[in-house]
Amino acid sequence: MALATASEDSPRWQYLDQIRKTKGPFNQDSDVSEESLATLANAKILVIGAGGLGCEILKNLALSGFRDIHVIDMDTIDISNLNRQFLFRKSDVGKYKAEVAAAFVEQRVEGVKITPHNCRIQEFDEDFYMQFQIVVCGLDSIEARRWINATLVNMVDMDNQDSLKPLIDGGTEGFKGQTRVVFPTLTACIECQLDLYAPRAAVPLCTLATIPRQPEHCIEWAHIIAWEQEKPYPSLDKDDPEHITWLYQKALARAQEFGITGVTYSLTQGVVKNIIPAIASTNAIIAASCCNEALKIATAAAPSLGFEENYMMYTGDEAIYTHVFKNEKKGDCPVCGDVAKPLHVDPNWTLKELLDSFAVKADLQLKNPSIRAEDKTLYMPFPPSIEEQTRPNLDKKLKDGLGLETNHEVVVTDPAFPTLTFRFFLQFS
Ligand SMILES: [Zn+2]
Repeated sequence: MALATASEDSPRWQYLDQIRKTKGPFNQDSDVSEESLATLANAKILVIGAGGLGCEILKNLALSGFRDIHVIDMDTIDISNLNRQFLFRKSDVGKYKAEVAAAFVEQRVEGVKITPHNCRIQEFDEDFYMQFQIVVCGLDSIEARRWINATLVNMVDMDNQDSLKPLIDGGTEGFKGQTRVVFPTLTACIECQLDLYAPRAAVPLCTLATIPRQPEHCIEWAHIIAWEQEKPYPSLDKDDPEHITWLYQKALARAQEFGITGVTYSLTQGVVKNIIPAIASTNAIIAASCCNEALKIATAAAPSLGFEENYMMYTGDEAIYTHVFKNEKKGDCPVCGDVAKPLHVDPNWTLKELLDSFAVKADLQLKNPSIRAEDKTLYMPFPPSIEEQTRPNLDKKLKDGLGLETNHEVVVTDPAFPTLTFRFFLQFS
């Protein structure tokens, strides 16, 4: 009742209540009852990330009437965050993002309680995540998204409606961004959509070495090939401007040779340090759309993204374009599907070549894979004793060395995603 009562006391929430108290074509009488109005104030919502998107999300949720918000972020504030992460001041540099952001919004919006957690999401178990009604992610890490997605899908118990936690995910890169909503087990999950995000290091070495097509290829060439050949300094320090300048000049010369434009100092720094460019206004647009979806899901005031269209893309780098579409759930998704998927491989590959391919395959992106066939462990990177036992398999060919055949099933796991099992049946080409 807190919000409803507060609205009688003060006109602060009158505009928000106007939307919530008006019965429209999409809600029912029960949605606009006093009892229903109180559900927003009582809803517990989790925000993952207190960075560029997270600052916006926390501010918007608090100003949208959410009263009980938790936020997780393990990072501390860096001076380079201050141009867009507006809840932080220069005097906050070095402090925890979650803590500072929570305190700032609490002070600004009366009656809101924000609980910060200065840690990794992996440090909490299902009991922790079970207490929330909605999870909103403002992350720049694919790995963290995959982890929370798998956790929320695993938590769903068909006999308990409360175990289903809608996941709202925002992401930006420069002038581009996306907002998507996942109803775990019911609609396409993050893992179903993983192939939309090609791994960043997926440019084959031969492209870098022979015919670069993009400014990034020239920078990676300078970073990986030219640096190794010329060794201008004993070791590369990515924070040393002299080192970055050396790479920038090498990349620029190569770009000019191939008629490629766009190599700049800041792009060089971004590629080498793997920095995703971030623009305050794109973050604001995407965070705002995430928060409106949260408000609609929490209040039923209007239909949200989800069961039909579930993905909103925003493109701002060539004028403006937005598009909303439905990503289909995949039957062979390792998180929410239940069938093995085909894996096309060359029978003459060694096991090592197969495992290396898992790192760059867009729908896998695994760095430390273990692999099993039938009941036999082919390779496990941990613990050391098993690694030693299975290491000789790495150099064996799939067919002749290991005796694998087309349609054999293999199971792949990775310690980064302990709840995920990737099942494949081999298809030899
Ligand atoms: Zn899925």
